[in-house]
Amino acid sequence: MTIYERPAELLQNLIRFDTTNPPGNEAACIQYVDGLLHEAGFETTLLERTAGRPNVLARLKGEGSAPPLLLYGHVDVVPTVGQDWQHPPFSAEVIDDYIWGRGALDMKGGVAMMLAAFLRARAEGLSLSGDVIMCVVSDEEDGGDDGAKFLVEQHADLFEGVRYAIGEFGGFALYIDGKRFYPIQVSEKGVTWFTGTVRGPAGHASTPMPGGTMASLAKVLDRVCNQRLPIHITEPARLMFQAMAAGLDSPMKDQILGLLDPSQTDDILDEMGETGRMFNALLHNTASPTMLQASNKINVIPGEVSLRIDCRVLPGESPETAMREIQALAGDALQLKIDRSDAPPASIDMGLFDTLSDILREADPDGTPMPLLMPAATDGRFFARIGIQTYGFLPMNLTPDFDFWGTIHAANERIPVSAVDFGTRAVYEALRRFK
Ligand SMILES: [Zn+2]
Repeated sequence: MTIYERPAELLQNLIRFDTTNPPGNEAACIQYVDGLLHEAGFETTLLERTAGRPNVLARLKGEGSAPPLLLYGHVDVVPTVGQDWQHPPFSAEVIDDYIWGRGALDMKGGVAMMLAAFLRARAEGLSLSGDVIMCVVSDEEDGGDDGAKFLVEQHADLFEGVRYAIGEFGGFALYIDGKRFYPIQVSEKGVTWFTGTVRGPAGHASTPMPGGTMASLAKVLDRVCNQRLPIHITEPARLMFQAMAAGLDSPMKDQILGLLDPSQTDDILDEMGETGRMFNALLHNTASPTMLQASNKINVIPGEVSLRIDCRVLPGESPETAMREIQALAGDALQLKIDRSDAPPASIDMGLFDTLSDILREADPDGTPMPLLMPAATDGRFFARIGIQTYGFLPMNLTPDFDFWGTIHAANERIPVSAVDFGTRAVYEALRRFK
């Protein structure tokens, strides 16, 4: 059996490269992928912005009756420090039919599915309507500067004509109110980082300063952390909640539909508890203060305090709008400055959605595919800049007891061997059906 027939083993090999980002160290892992592509007869293109952090691309020729389809995934992973793993995170042991290790879900599992499907398509001479481009990147987990962002900014010509891509994040079984769904990511939020500054009189700590900088900061934090920014019902959120509601029974169904009525949205989110906290991020721009800098001396009351705010911007909205919203909430004591901004996708193109959801419906007639708006960022936001619509489609037929969200970026990340096979078949079907 060749490697494409053994996607689980391919995944084990990928996990065994420690690509913790930072610093990434993706070179050996990318070279392994490059080697597999070469062995299968592909010519590859290796591109790097920073030495030791390459990205690799290969292309499988189609008839040319459809635009090229892009498959992309990242091989870097988030750190494991301070986490209590039951099995070592880079040894990729198979235990009770699970492959254990960092990246099993996010997203070396997905890279294994795509690579296996891509290699199989070539080996079996699958007739393709359009070219298929396989692109494996570095640096997704730490901003993408050496990965997708670099490729989109410096090598956009390699993606000429591509309209649709398959990437993360989605395709995994998700259980809501006892029903099984398959969310397929169709859009995501953008990332804007702010520095906020609060100023006031400085002084000697022996003589307290009521109403000073620290008191102003406390007011700002109280507002920004405990109140919501305005509601925005965006197109991807509407499609997502409508599809979800269609697969549910009352009263949950009515609650989900109620979220789309702005006069009820926030009240329903409050009623929903933890689920509401998740959905909140899909219906508002959000602002999370995460870092603070104040006095550098214990006995000096600071005249200036700065805080960094991680703001996530809904698709179709602008960082400037989000900034105005935060400013209005925080009040005049806070001065905001944008440090970095990766805009969200401006619009969505649902053209490939039905093909992908048909594949999942046939593979699992009891599951309901639905569009997913991601609250977090993926490389999809960079490809969106050059007009590419990403579908998060790495199908995994997980059981209800499997804690998907609880193990992503956390300890004990693992994936059922059967889910790797399930996803590989589904991605291969997508290549076969793409027109
Ligand atoms: Zn990822």
